[in-house]
Amino acid sequence: MIAHLINTDAGDRGLLPVYLDYRKRNPGFLTSSVETFLNNLERILIITGFPIPPSMTPETDGPPGAVALAGAVELLGGRAEILTYPEVMNALRPFGINFVKSPDVGRYSLVIAVETPGRAADGKYYSMRGLEIGRESFDGTVIEARELGIPTIGIGDGGNEAGMGRIRELIERYVPHGEKIASVVETDELILSAVSNWGAYGLVALASMKTGRNLLENWDERAIIGSLVERGLVDGVTGERKLGVDGIPVEIHATLVGLLQEIVSWRNGTTRVPAPPSSGL
Ligand code: CA
Repeated sequence: MIAHLINTDAGDRGLLPVYLDYRKRNPGFLTSSVETFLNNLERILIITGFPIPPSMTPETDGPPGAVALAGAVELLGGRAEILTYPEVMNALRPFGINFVKSPDVGRYSLVIAVETPGRAADGKYYSMRGLEIGRESFDGTVIEARELGIPTIGIGDGGNEAGMGRIRELIERYVPHGEKIASVVETDELILSAVSNWGAYGLVALASMKTGRNLLENWDERAIIGSLVERGLVDGVTGERKLGVDGIPVEIHATLVGLLQEIVSWRNGTTRVPAPPSSGL
């Protein structure tokens, strides 16, 4: 149910056939991602930041998801560190984040890549429009984690992000420029979502239900998007410094988060609405 919600294609970006096909072959992708998350909370490295050509300014999708994940990790007693670009670090400073610049990958219990450019078959990085991204990416850290046997989770919404190597053939089949842009970088778990931030929120929402805690309770979508835009980040679809993510206005994002928060409270029995009978999720 949560997996469906976070794949609501509000922006009509055309990833629905990828999701439906992926869902058929891996119906429990969100549940297994949450299990990997909850079983490896000790020290989690979260990678985020997607530069948008031609300015190569990082976009507003990714960092909010990374912050939500980091907050959940800390509430559950683990430690989270974020690896990202300097502009994103600057924009996230008000949120009390632990940053890392040159992570010693072998010291982490889990690596999560949220909206991180993943190299394509030709070794280059591409935007959804097929433009080359002329800036360093952190997907090498994901590859290194895989080589070291450290669990990895990828979160993406387009096909060009680290983790999408797991469903490369679906990206090539359904996504415009798919053969060019599809990332070859794989992760153990892959969360597909209509907006990558939503993939992270979905993971936190389902983790909330599994733990009986509302880990999204204090999340303020407008505040974090506002802070990112104020400090120069751009909407990844329009390239503009507007209160939105992936061409979708902030109100839609805030409403989706509100729905996730309400569902979690209801399922956990922490609202005045009667709790549902216990059943599978
Ligand atoms: Ca996105």
